[in-house]
Amino acid sequence: MSKNKLRIGVYGLTGCAGDQLTILNCEDRLLKLFETVDVRSFLMAKSDNLEEELDIALVEGSVSTRSDEESVINIRQRTGSLVAIGICACFGGIQAVFTEPEEWAKQYEQVYGNRSVSSNAALQSRPVKAFVKVDYYLPGCPIHKEQFLALLSRLALGSTPEFHRAPVCLECKWQENDCLLNKNVLCLGPLTTAGCGAICPTCNLPCVGCWGPFEEANCWSEWNLLLDKDYDRNIIMQKMKSFSGTGFIQFFNTMKKERT
Ligand code: SF4
Ligand code: SF4
Repeated sequence: MSKNKLRIGVYGLTGCAGDQLTILNCEDRLLKLFETVDVRSFLMAKSDNLEEELDIALVEGSVSTRSDEESVINIRQRTGSLVAIGICACFGGIQAVFTEPEEWAKQYEQVYGNRSVSSNAALQSRPVKAFVKVDYYLPGCPIHKEQFLALLSRLALGSTPEFHRAPVCLECKWQENDCLLNKNVLCLGPLTTAGCGAICPTCNLPCVGCWGPFEEANCWSEWNLLLDKDYDRNIIMQKMKSFSGTGFIQFFNTMKKERT
């Protein structure tokens, strides 16, 4: 281990481990990667994992339990930079689907009853940034390995990683696709962060939003457009909630107020 190498750790909170698997899936480039950086902790890749100071921590998954919360606070205290990888870490993922706090408490009671849970109690799922400072975000469900390698190379060279600041529609245009919305298909491209290369619309399938909410998304515009196309309000809502985690909370809250 060289003192000059970046010390990195890869961690998983509540998620499917797909982002960690994507890193492992770098296959031929993985050995080179492990030579370039000093991997101090990566439970899925090695057994001698050390809980010590890091330069970069890559964190997958949302904070959904008390032990997730303790882990992410501990990781933040030990690392120079923290990168949220995958939409669970970036936005909360499917498990952070928009739910009223009272509704969540009701669901919790249905599952656990009145029993007190002494350790690792479930929390209403939230993205990493709800608990600690996040320096960089690498969305995707799962992340794209080329984008991961590009991010790590940038950080290893001491430069700032570049991110997509556009919706999926932009990449869809680059592919010269006919817009699915014009064919009355419920596509969430305008609300979704670019990065996947618009894979689904290119295959004539609508975007369901798996790269997470685009920060400048105009939810009202998409909502009204889909209503004009005679889509049912509940269907639109369900689609918009699926992958947006905590990203569109403001929109859903405004919507709720307007309906009461
Ligand atoms: S097909 Fe979907 S992603 Fe492509 S331009 Fe239309 S709305 Fe956007
Ligand atoms: S659902 Fe949308 S964001 Fe996800 S891969 Fe398909 S086009 Fe990309």
